[in-house]
Amino acid sequence: MTTESVKVVVRCRPFVDKETKMGCKKIIDAEKNITQISISKPDDRDTIKSFRFDEVFDENSTQQQIYDEVAFSLVESVSEGYNGIQFRIHNIFKLGTVFAYGQTGCGKTHTMIGNLDDDNQKGIMPKSFSHVFSAISSENNKGKQFLIRCSFIEIYNEEIRDLLNMDQHNKRKLEIKENQDQGGVYIKDCIIKVAHCAADLEKALKDGNKNKTMGETQMNRDSSRSHCNGQQKIKMGKLNLVDLAGSEKQKKTGATGVRLKEATKINLSLSALMNVITCLVDGKSSHIPYRDSKLTRLLQDSLGGNTKTCMIANISPADYNYDETLSTLRYADRAK
Ligand code: ADP
Ligand code: MG
Repeated sequence: MTTESVKVVVRCRPFVDKETKMGCKKIIDAEKNITQISISKPDDRDTIKSFRFDEVFDENSTQQQIYDEVAFSLVESVSEGYNGIQFRIHNIFKLGTVFAYGQTGCGKTHTMIGNLDDDNQKGIMPKSFSHVFSAISSENNKGKQFLIRCSFIEIYNEEIRDLLNMDQHNKRKLEIKENQDQGGVYIKDCIIKVAHCAADLEKALKDGNKNKTMGETQMNRDSSRSHCNGQQKIKMGKLNLVDLAGSEKQKKTGATGVRLKEATKINLSLSALMNVITCLVDGKSSHIPYRDSKLTRLLQDSLGGNTKTCMIANISPADYNYDETLSTLRYADRAK
C-alpha cells in the first residue's frame, strides 16, 4: 500500500518578543524559490545544513498563504467526497490529514487554529470550516444533500478524551473499537456533532479547546452527501486536523516522575507516527505498525491508500533552539 501523497512543508515563525529581548540570533534561512531551509550552527556559522521540502515558509508567511498553498487542495479534495457503495464503509471516504509538528512554542497551534477572533489570523482549522461549507453550496452541488459532522478529541498519555463531552471530561477514557465487517476503527461513545454552518464547527472548536489538557489533539470533520434520488448513492469525505504534542526532548525540561512518564508517551506516539509514514512512503513493508500508538491506530484508515497527508513542521528562527530545530528538520526530512 502506498499513500497517494505525503506533502512535507516547513514554516519558520518570526521572533517572539522574549527572543528579541534576549538578543537571539537568527540561524534559519528559508529560500522559497528552491524550497530549501538552511540552518547554521551558533558559534560556527560556517557549519550549515540544508534540507529541501515540498514548500518552505519564512517568518513573513501569512495564515492565508499557508492555507492556500498547503491546505486548500487537500480540503477541496476531501469535500468532493469519494464515490462508494454504502455497505462497504471501509475505503469509501475521501480522506485527508493535516498534522502540525514541532517543538513547543514554534507555532503549531498558531498554524492549525490561530486567532479565531481575527479573520487575518485564523489558522487551518477555522479556514477549512468555511471552505467546506462554501464548497458544498457551490453551483455544481445544487440539489445534493450534505451532512457535516465533527468530533474533537485529545490523546493524552495514550488515553483518549472527548473534548466535546464536558460532563465526562477527565473521567472517561474512551476506547477504540473495530468495526469488524466494515474494516475501520471508531471511538466508542465519542460525541459526533452535526454542523449546519462554519460557525457551528468554530463553536465546537472553541468549546473543545477549553477542555484541553495540553497533549495531542485532533479534530475530525466528517462529511457525507447523498443525491437523495431514492438510490443509495452517497459520497463521503473525512478530514483529520491534528495539532501534535511538542516534540522537544525531555532532558532539556528536566522532567521527572509523572511528567517524564507523560513525555515518554508523547515521544512514543510521535515516533509511531513517523514509523507508519516512512513505511507508507517507501512502500516496501507489508506490515504497517498502526497498532503501536493510539494516534496511528485512529488514523489508520486515513494514512495509506487513497489519501492525502500533509505535515507542517513548525520551527523557531532562534539560535538557542538549534538542537531542537535540527531534530524537527530531520524528522520532517524522513517523512518525505
Ligand atoms: P505551539 O503550539 O507549537 O506550542 P504556538 O502556536 O502556541 O506554539 O506559538 C507560540 C507563540 O508564537 C505564540 O505566542 C504565537 O502567537 C507565536 N507565533 C507562532 N507562530 C507565529 C507566526 N507565524 N506569526 C506570528 N506569531 C507566531
Ligand atoms: Mg500548541
